[in-house]
Amino acid sequence: MKESNTTITQISLMKQKLNAAKLALEEINTDRNEKLKVLIQFITHLSLACKGQNIELDNKLAKLRHHMHNFEQIDEALPELVDIERLLKSQYSHTMSRLEDSRNGLNRVIRQIQRIDAAPDKLKKEITYFKQELNKPFHTVWEYIPKVEKLIFFYEEILKHQFSDADNYKILPQHILLAKELAAKISEIEFRKDQRDQILVIKEVLLGDISLSHLLDSYQTILSLLLDNIAREKTASQDFLFSLNDALLIVHDVVNNVHNNSQRNEQLKGQLNQEINLRVNSTGELVTGADNLNELKTQLTAQLSSIRDALSRKEALEQREQTILRKSIESMRKELNAMSQEASNYKEKLFEHQKLNLLDPLTQLANRTALEDRMEQAYRNHIRYKTPLWIAITDIDHFKIINDNFGHSTGDKTLQVIAMALKNSLRDSEFVARYGGEEFVLLLPDINNDHISILLNRVREKIKNIPFKFKNQRITVTLSIGAAQVMENESLEDAFERADAALYQAKNNGRDRVVIDI
Ligand code: GH3
Ligand code: MG
Ligand code: MG
Repeated sequence: MKESNTTITQISLMKQKLNAAKLALEEINTDRNEKLKVLIQFITHLSLACKGQNIELDNKLAKLRHHMHNFEQIDEALPELVDIERLLKSQYSHTMSRLEDSRNGLNRVIRQIQRIDAAPDKLKKEITYFKQELNKPFHTVWEYIPKVEKLIFFYEEILKHQFSDADNYKILPQHILLAKELAAKISEIEFRKDQRDQILVIKEVLLGDISLSHLLDSYQTILSLLLDNIAREKTASQDFLFSLNDALLIVHDVVNNVHNNSQRNEQLKGQLNQEINLRVNSTGELVTGADNLNELKTQLTAQLSSIRDALSRKEALEQREQTILRKSIESMRKELNAMSQEASNYKEKLFEHQKLNLLDPLTQLANRTALEDRMEQAYRNHIRYKTPLWIAITDIDHFKIINDNFGHSTGDKTLQVIAMALKNSLRDSEFVARYGGEEFVLLLPDINNDHISILLNRVREKIKNIPFKFKNQRITVTLSIGAAQVMENESLEDAFERADAALYQAKNNGRDRVVIDI
């Protein structure tokens, strides 16, 4: 009995232990499940963080998240883990090699930036420091992005620096040459009165200390002024052609009306003539067949009054016709007068234009185009009549000093005075043109060798004696002149070159002198 009691006690003890062990096991299970849930949650979040690198990996991770969501299906997720692990490993090495490539790319760009001389020194130092930093490898994309941003910053800074420098770009000799050429070109073009002040200002700018932006502005302004002139000229021609067309239409209508009227009148006149002829014939018959004089008298009077009536109708018709014709001619004449007035205005304008195209606007002397025409004409005469022909080229001495000391507009006025004096010192058969800048060309026919020197020295002295006064300062302006006679069988160009060489010699020999190439 005692034994059985002991057994019972042992069994109940074991039961108790078993219960306790069960409870402990349940606790462990619960705890493990809790931890597993946290782990699964963590893996889910981690997998979301990996999203967006590789589509295959994204798909696998999505599937994994799905399986893990359902606790019971977790076993199905296990085989996927092998694939995911493989993909993760290869993605990692891919990312690392891409990062390395990007680092090398940045190194290449930075080397290029370092070659830009225009970068300010402070920036250059920063760039060198940055390059050193680039020696260390990147571990994540987040290290790469700030580097790219920094690189963009360097570019921005360099660009900013260059743009702030743009205004101070050094003007090169070819720019100055362009400015001078433009100034010379606009001197040859006739601008409208209201544009001239603007052109003078541009010319002054072009011949002064010009900057690149001023040069560009000048080109742009001149271009738009020229385009404006072309557009106006086109409108004027169009207006003229339209009014010419209107006038022609009116004349055409008048001629048509006259023609129609006269056709109708001719018909009426034909009918009247026929009537008159009939009356005259029947009168003749009456006379031949008449027995009774009184009866004849009555009949004749009736016939005669119808003839008179027909004649007066014919006269009225003719008068009407005359009046219509006179009126038509009158209106046609008016139209034609208006038209010819318009045409002659236009012709005058064209002529003015042609004349202006041959005149130098500043000095009102013949320009280079006119000189070329005149030289050909003089040369033809020289060949045909064997008359002597001299070419003289003259250049104002140290003219630049006048511009520099007293301004460009004083220079312009000086040119005008000298041009006038040159023109006045020549005979009608002689010719002077502004060749360019402060150079003039003289064509002198019919002068013999003994007289040329006297003539040219007289011209030189005349200019030298002009009492110029600038800023209350008495200034003497002198000329150097080179001349050559066109020789037998010599071309005009060759003679011109000899005259030019003579001028060069006059300058070299001390200026204010005449050198004649013999
Ligand atoms: P040199 O005795 O050697 O001829 O000296 P220079 O100063 O006369 O000659 P240079 O060729 O050096 O200068 C000519 C000057 O003439 C420079 C230019 O500005 C000026 N010039 C040219 N055309 C015009 C113009 O239409 N108006 C003004 N005011 N100046 C002009
Ligand atoms: Mg010159
Ligand atoms: Mg000169």
